[in-house]
Amino acid sequence: MPIGTSFPSLGISLLKGGSTTPLERERASLLKGLRYRGISERVVYAMGAVRREDFVPQSLRDSAYRDQPLPIGKGQTISAPHMVAIMCEILRVEPQSRVLEIGTGSGYHAAVLAQLAGEGTIYTIDRFEGLVENARKLLPANVVPLVGDGSLGLPEYAPFDRILVTCSAPEIPSPLLEQLKEGGRMVLPLGKGLQELFLVRKNNVIEKEAHGAVAFVLLVGKYGFPDM
Ligand code: SAH
Repeated sequence: MPIGTSFPSLGISLLKGGSTTPLERERASLLKGLRYRGISERVVYAMGAVRREDFVPQSLRDSAYRDQPLPIGKGQTISAPHMVAIMCEILRVEPQSRVLEIGTGSGYHAAVLAQLAGEGTIYTIDRFEGLVENARKLLPANVVPLVGDGSLGLPEYAPFDRILVTCSAPEIPSPLLEQLKEGGRMVLPLGKGLQELFLVRKNNVIEKEAHGAVAFVLLVGKYGFPDM
């Protein structure tokens, strides 16, 4: 095995003498914590394959593996790793899933979705061009980053197997429900002060399942909250 071989999924790399950097040790410890919380190996593996330090501002690189949200500019945040893990777990992205993410932000969650979707395509949209341009440089070929009001969905690319909303909406945006495939799953936070995470399943009827209290930035758009 060549020196320097890395096992991103395990959060370690074999350097000379088997030493690891502090960041690598923190990543390994974060992944261990996710397993301990009951996150599946598939999701832990996907998260281990994406370098969160590349998606946070340079000045916060050393904090990349703290399990907390971090500011990414424009008043927005990259979600805490455990929240990314829980949302992926509930969303159940499959190899070849066609996924829509509302709220590209740093692009980190989209990169994790891309790992989970394998040959599937991830469409990710944010209302801030600056964030999308930055994420575009970091994202793999199966992710399509776009600028616009994600509360309208992306009718030209619909329908989707999975929809992930990483900002909190007043109610389920109707265009997103329409663009979700029959048998599809959508995960989104709802509410303003008190927010709750929901799984929405579309099986002839719409089933909504609550998954606990959360804190996200708001979805601002036609089917979201007004811009203040
Ligand atoms: N998934 C991101 C975190 C996103 S934070 C990550 O991994 O880093 C939420 C994002 O939702 C912000 O970037 C914000 O600009 C975006 N957002 C809010 N309202 C939106 C809308 N109507 N359409 C698209 N993006 C929106």
